[in-house]
Amino acid sequence: MNAAQRSARNAFAALALDRAAALRRDSAWLAAARDASGARYVLGLPESLLWTTPAGDALQLLPPDALPPAQRATASLLGCDAAGRAYFRCDAGAAPAAPGQALGLRALAASASAFDAGLAAYALALGHWQRNSRYCPACGNACIHDEAGHRARCTACATTQFPRTDPAVIVLVEHGDAALLGRRPGWPAGRFSTLAGFVEPGETLEDAVRREVAEESGARVIASEYHSSQPWPFPASLMLGFTAQAATRDLTAGDGELAELRWLSRGILRAGLASGALSLPPAFSVAFHLIHDWLARAPD
Ligand SMILES: [Zn+2]
Repeated sequence: MNAAQRSARNAFAALALDRAAALRRDSAWLAAARDASGARYVLGLPESLLWTTPAGDALQLLPPDALPPAQRATASLLGCDAAGRAYFRCDAGAAPAAPGQALGLRALAASASAFDAGLAAYALALGHWQRNSRYCPACGNACIHDEAGHRARCTACATTQFPRTDPAVIVLVEHGDAALLGRRPGWPAGRFSTLAGFVEPGETLEDAVRREVAEESGARVIASEYHSSQPWPFPASLMLGFTAQAATRDLTAGDGELAELRWLSRGILRAGLASGALSLPPAFSVAFHLIHDWLARAPD
């Protein structure tokens, strides 16, 4: 399995959608596409919720006639599927007076299709950036969003902003037959995951892996390898999964981000998962796949 195939297993990471960036500036195409009967709208609700089916197992994708013309006119273009259907996102101040649910992305990801989970993650991330780019970072004046919602432009000084993504590394550190897993404060007893942290300015991914592991555990990484990636719009991250080799199993107290830190052998982890004494992050996360791929691999 290559990295692209590994990434495609991660939730939010298998969105078969042409983002159609060239059409974002085509106002005539946008106007027609927003009103076309085949167009579908993802509805964003306050507190990062999305409008879903009553069962909460799929996005409720609204046709154009379900929305007022003014709301359609300012909707952001997400892209087009293989059949040419255009998808947009827009916000509403409250849930529609119709059967459905206002649901968060984690709950939706548990049962939605890969397409819906990916579309939901994309729509939420774009909406979050739009709410945070209403004012110019250079002069403080109001910005307008153009290019179908993908650019913010200052009405006073013309400074432009584009949607941002914050890279974070997430690392399965191994030594011999053991993996280094941590438990964050507030997690249930026995729940463990891989180490993670944001990439800092001026840093390579490999440097970020070494630094984050050292900060959180004191372990010294001597080699790392890219595994897979996952959009993680809580609110704007891209998780970059790595495996890494530690020089030794020596640990220090770390920076306090973790409540507990353990080297777990495959045998101990398998037995703990079977008995319920240990648990892992949800199956839609890259951390879950990092740990499962390591469990499935024979010790070096
Ligand atoms: Zn400005």
